[in-house]
Amino acid sequence: MKYELEPDNRNCPDGELLEDLRIVASQFATNSLIKEQYNTHGRFCAATMQRRFGSWNKALALSGLTVQKRIDIPVGELLSDLKRVADSLERRTVTREQYRVHGHFGNATISRRFGSWGAALKAAGLKPTGWKPPATEEDLFDNMANVWEHVGRQPKHKDFRRPISRYSNTTYVNRFGSWRGALEAFVTAANAKREPGLTENTKPLPIKAKAQQQPAHRTGRDPSWRLRFLVMRHDNFACRLCGASPAKDPSVSLHVDHIHPWSEGGETVFSNLQTCCEPCNIGKSNLPMKEEEGGHPA
Ligand SMILES: [Zn+2]
Repeated sequence: MKYELEPDNRNCPDGELLEDLRIVASQFATNSLIKEQYNTHGRFCAATMQRRFGSWNKALALSGLTVQKRIDIPVGELLSDLKRVADSLERRTVTREQYRVHGHFGNATISRRFGSWGAALKAAGLKPTGWKPPATEEDLFDNMANVWEHVGRQPKHKDFRRPISRYSNTTYVNRFGSWRGALEAFVTAANAKREPGLTENTKPLPIKAKAQQQPAHRTGRDPSWRLRFLVMRHDNFACRLCGASPAKDPSVSLHVDHIHPWSEGGETVFSNLQTCCEPCNIGKSNLPMKEEEGGHPA
């Protein structure tokens, strides 16, 4: 299975694609091919063939190769191929479209044999196609930090609704036993974990400068939820420049902003971050900051 970006073959003539199918088939001394053989030995990808000619079998037929019609594919073979595709994609479910690209058999064959696509997934021990993996603790903490920042104070469970929150308070209660337990787990995690941005004497991270004009960084551009939360808490969830806070005015939206801009080599570390409301943030980006203005007290 190829995972690299496919070469842009849009201008490659049909004949050249079909010829390559025959070349690979001759390497295998066969007059038919399965997608995997072609993916490992072909110049193009099976997916490219499918896109160009409508389906893998149509591409085979047009190239003069034999389309293998297997009517009695054992159920176990269908299921293990579904599982193989799920594993190769590192997913716990497979959509019809994913299977069309990566599977050995036809979607219709599978749906027909099991009654429906969903039933086939179930039989293979996979999840339904709409399934999403459960939120990790980090996801829940990240969301909690967002809500906290949004309201500018310790959030209440009624704050956990869309669009402010991605998860309901019930999700938190279920995960942490109680609402209080969720808040405590969050604060413990925010305080306990140490990470590069929180201390100044960290080893350089192996982040290479991409373009010549871009300075090398030892930190990524976006602060983690933990760093964001600690900066905002340090600034009492209020803009450092004008004092605006969503706790007083719900229309205020706060950001964590680089004092020395990241684009100019500023790092994503506690001492180089400050809480800023949107108008101040925009105003700031037009005005160079004076040296003595920046910086959190150590
Ligand atoms: Zn402001």
